[in-house]
Amino acid sequence: MNDYELVIIGAGPTGLFATFLSGLRDIKSITLEALDYTGGQIPELYPEKTVYDVQGIPRINAMELRDKMYEQAKMFNNEIALNSKVTDIIQSSDGFIIEVNGEKKYTCRAVLICTGIGDFEPRKIGCPGENEFYHKGVDYTVKDIKRFSDKTVAVIGGGDAALDYANELADYAKKIYVIHHSEKFKAAEKTLKNALSNNKIQVIMNTSVTKISGDNYIKNITLKNEIDKTEKNMDIDEMVIAIGHIGKANVFKSVKLETNATGRNIMVSQGYETNIKGIYAVGDIATIEGEAIHPLIAVDGGDAYNAINYIKKFLTPNASIFGGHSSNLNI
Ligand SMILES: Cc1cc2nc3c(=O)[nH]c(=O)nc-3n(C[C@H](O)[C@H](O)[C@H](O)COP(=O)(O)OP(=O)(O)OC[C@H]3O[C@@H](n4cnc5c(N)ncnc54)[C@H](O)[C@@H]3O)c2cc1C
Repeated sequence: MNDYELVIIGAGPTGLFATFLSGLRDIKSITLEALDYTGGQIPELYPEKTVYDVQGIPRINAMELRDKMYEQAKMFNNEIALNSKVTDIIQSSDGFIIEVNGEKKYTCRAVLICTGIGDFEPRKIGCPGENEFYHKGVDYTVKDIKRFSDKTVAVIGGGDAALDYANELADYAKKIYVIHHSEKFKAAEKTLKNALSNNKIQVIMNTSVTKISGDNYIKNITLKNEIDKTEKNMDIDEMVIAIGHIGKANVFKSVKLETNATGRNIMVSQGYETNIKGIYAVGDIATIEGEAIHPLIAVDGGDAYNAINYIKKFLTPNASIFGGHSSNLNI
């Protein structure tokens, strides 16, 4: 007996909607998300943006949309586990064994891969000291904000993430330097305006970090002015590097999933099944017969609906593919 009928990998917009749909079709599922939050590209790449192209919602802040997707995903109490990176899918006699963070953890009959552009890895500066002082003053996200109380913090980057962090940290830190390699910020206007008007935040433009130094903990960074090429040292207590993330295509080593020519998308049939029976893929990661599927929330959502219906039929051959109208439910 398997732990679950279905394991959904990824809790971006597609995985969250698939989680809701599993509940709707009475499928016992768990959704595994590598990060410690849901929403995929939304919180990571465009939290401040307004989305206009989701049916029935003329305009909505992206994070508000994510929150609504999460609320909908939890409607039938299907499980969502965070910090759960699926590292392998192993075929068993009656389905699959799912390896999470390197450990064999769950068994299931079917798998739905919703890994989008892959799990995110922070983009690195690539300067000496960056790896050495990781978690010793150098971080890529702000998790425990109180840790920054009364500290001098260098925030690296010029996009939404960097300026958002600077604004958040300003409530706690003593001083924040936003260090940006170019002469132009790429953040939302409101975010930028807040940062520029905060007297705890000082921006240093056209400047790169070339070295990170310290003893057991970060103490100092070397800054290079990209215009006159001069270098100077700056004493700091903490550093947050927020220069973006890199999406990595997923490879589950025990199953040979067929991909398209770029190797970045998993090939699926019209029924969203991969070349391996019982493993399905949908959303930004999937491609039908090599053709690009438009990477949009509404399109991915429609595909997720179809995929879950096909999965229901796979799990329960007597079930019909169409599960009925939700407006008939009395919940
Ligand atoms: C700047 C920007 C603006 C956009 N604006 C719009 C818009 O206005 N309207 C619109 O419709 N679309 C928009 N999009 C596109 C939309 O965000 C994507 O189509 C959507 O996020 C795809 O959802 P997904 O769940 O398939 O993938 P993702 O959002 O990429 O989510 C995948 C999830 O899977 C997780 N994951 C990956 N690998 C593993 C693993 N091995 N184990 C566990 N978890 C894993 C990831 O951490 C991530 O949370 C925009 C995209 C960008 C970048």
